[in-house]
Amino acid sequence: MTSALMPTYARADAAFERGEGPYIFNEAGDRYLDFGAGIAVCALGHAHPHLVEALTTQAQKLWHTSNLYQISGQGRLAERLVAATFADRVFFTNSGAEAVECGLKLIRKYHDETGNPERFRVITVEGAFHGRTLATIAAGGQDKLLNGFGPAVEGFDQVPFGDIDAMRAAIGPETAAILIEPVQGEGGIRPIEPAFLRQVRTLCDEHGLLMMLDEIQCGIGRTGKLFAYEWAEIEPDVMAIAKGIGGGFPVGACLATEKAAVGMTAGTHGTTFGGNPLAMAVGNAVLDVVLEDGFLDRVQRVANHLTQQLAGVVDRHGEIFEEVRGQGLMLGLKCKVPNIDVWHKLRANGMLAVPAGDNVVRLLPPLIIDEQHIGEAVDILDKSASELEP
Ligand SMILES: *Cc1c(COP(=O)(O)O)cnc(C)c1O
Repeated sequence: MTSALMPTYARADAAFERGEGPYIFNEAGDRYLDFGAGIAVCALGHAHPHLVEALTTQAQKLWHTSNLYQISGQGRLAERLVAATFADRVFFTNSGAEAVECGLKLIRKYHDETGNPERFRVITVEGAFHGRTLATIAAGGQDKLLNGFGPAVEGFDQVPFGDIDAMRAAIGPETAAILIEPVQGEGGIRPIEPAFLRQVRTLCDEHGLLMMLDEIQCGIGRTGKLFAYEWAEIEPDVMAIAKGIGGGFPVGACLATEKAAVGMTAGTHGTTFGGNPLAMAVGNAVLDVVLEDGFLDRVQRVANHLTQQLAGVVDRHGEIFEEVRGQGLMLGLKCKVPNIDVWHKLRANGMLAVPAGDNVVRLLPPLIIDEQHIGEAVDILDKSASELEP
């Protein structure tokens, strides 16, 4: 790897040239089963024909105009997201962190507009990850994100995972919102109980707070519903999405109810690139597939099968794995040996995964996998675990 890059990543010694469905190939032509999907981004696998068609068709027409003008693909994608969710309004971004930032700004603006400008604090959960901007590292609250980048942006209060009493106790006169990932991703695939999300909804209603979800990783079908909040049968006021909605093209969005977005009027927020025609063409194409009749039911079936198979792997290799956890196709293997060793071993045996916090290896396969791919994954996991056993 060239030293001209800032060495902010401890990159694996591997590079890829092309992909096809759930497989990715290096320059030597070696094939890997991609159960990382570029960190839950390539939701439909690599080089999905419908996405390639949408992007190349748009690329021949128009790439960029700026948000000074109407962009038809934006209106269409926003309307479809609104129709499929709790939301009434959408703001498009290029990344997840920007989508969270938009939500954080919206939260402050909402309380400013509705007569409570003193309310700006946001309660977040330990182990959270919301991005790498100054505000989103403060929201994430982890030392490893914040160290050396002080002073931290003011206004975030963190409570232990799954502790509703601590959350209630953290609410004060300056509290504006609660921000949660329904399934923590970077934190180690830790799903929040649906009952907990319902309690958070109630707390927000009782105290006049906005409930904001970060579904950047768990959204767009990953848990078997279009959005993970649907499992809890609640609706948030604000939600950040990204990763899967672009299928590999950088797209993010902040979704909100009309009420929550009341302050986001002309001139209050902006982006040069966000929502450009290329991004919108791909975002619409991803929705074409994910919203097809039966697609999400199929994700649920395949996910159940994968989860059962992984439970078998854990049983067979108790010295390497502690448990399988997660929801849908957002799964984590908690390791007893360093997760980085497992991650490297899997790659050596032809499979990509993603390391996460809490010594977990994440499996985030594209949503299009079938039982045959799961069989291949299980074989590679068994082989790798056997090789790691002392
Ligand atoms: C990836 C991720 C982000 C940050 O998205 P970027 O596109 O890297 O800025 C924020 N929150 C969650 C839950 C994520 O998984």
